[in-house]
Amino acid sequence: MSSGSKLNYKLVFTKQLNAAPGIAAPQRSGHPVSGGTIDTVPELPEVESLAVFLRERATGAEIDWAASTAISVLKTYQPDLGALSGQKVTGTARYGKFLDVISGPEPLHLVMHLARAGWLRWKDDLPEQRPKPGKSPLGFRLRFTDGTGFDLTEAGTKKRLAVYLVTDPQQVPGVASLGPDPLADDFTVDVLAGLLKDRRTQIKSVLRDQKIIAGVGNAYSDEVLHAAKMSPFKLASSLTPDEVAALYAAMTESLREAVKRSAGLAAADLKAEKKSGLRVHGRTGQPCPVCGDAVREVSFADSSLQYCPTCQTGGKPLADRRLSRLLK
Ligand SMILES: [Zn+2]
Repeated sequence: MSSGSKLNYKLVFTKQLNAAPGIAAPQRSGHPVSGGTIDTVPELPEVESLAVFLRERATGAEIDWAASTAISVLKTYQPDLGALSGQKVTGTARYGKFLDVISGPEPLHLVMHLARAGWLRWKDDLPEQRPKPGKSPLGFRLRFTDGTGFDLTEAGTKKRLAVYLVTDPQQVPGVASLGPDPLADDFTVDVLAGLLKDRRTQIKSVLRDQKIIAGVGNAYSDEVLHAAKMSPFKLASSLTPDEVAALYAAMTESLREAVKRSAGLAAADLKAEKKSGLRVHGRTGQPCPVCGDAVREVSFADSSLQYCPTCQTGGKPLADRRLSRLLK
């Protein structure tokens, strides 16, 4: 196995991790957590940290080669990965939850979307030979001429990891359709008000929709709504100007705080840092850090969400629609 510094960027927060030592989680009584799966797709703060990490590590480095080991990983055909050989990294960027490694002199963008159960791992001593396709978790590898590089891995046989090699990031459909970035300078409270106006959709759905707001996923939408003391089921169009302002403050502060917490940390600590920073997401049954009420969970869309009844829904638990539909 390779040694040296690794970016163990696995955002798989299983239930067991709730009980991991060294994580400043609320006190628990020793029994297993009843529920609370944590969404494992890296969101804005984690991808931002990765972009900074790769910028610091790789800017100026010459690419030796890049290889995908699962046929489904590379989503583009032209240019092919061979075009990267000899290119030098000029920078990195983040678009929503997409990470971009930019290289020249040919202007090429290697745009990556990490998946559930995905890792990005920095390596100091990659072998010269390209990896062979196979059933290993390795989905993609990029090697620099000095032997460093990174792997993108994903557990399971079905790879949801996506890599695109393009001359313009707007050629990636998921990037082209992104809504505004909540940490951009021009993302004002008025911009948010405009996005929510006339949208008769539950606010939880709106926050997660990458076409409306870029970078917020299942975990941070729970966190933002908790910080805003807002029910996830509230209709976006029904928000008063004061509620929009509270949501705006909660969103920008939660995301900035998360970015700040991850910045400057040893890469391997990022995962624990994110986990310890979450107040309600994935914490079903644990006390709310604000009021002490038990965090609850309700199924939502393709997964579940967590919230605090006292802080967010006037003390009333949200009805599990999926369950009540089944019971009818
Ligand atoms: Zn609470």
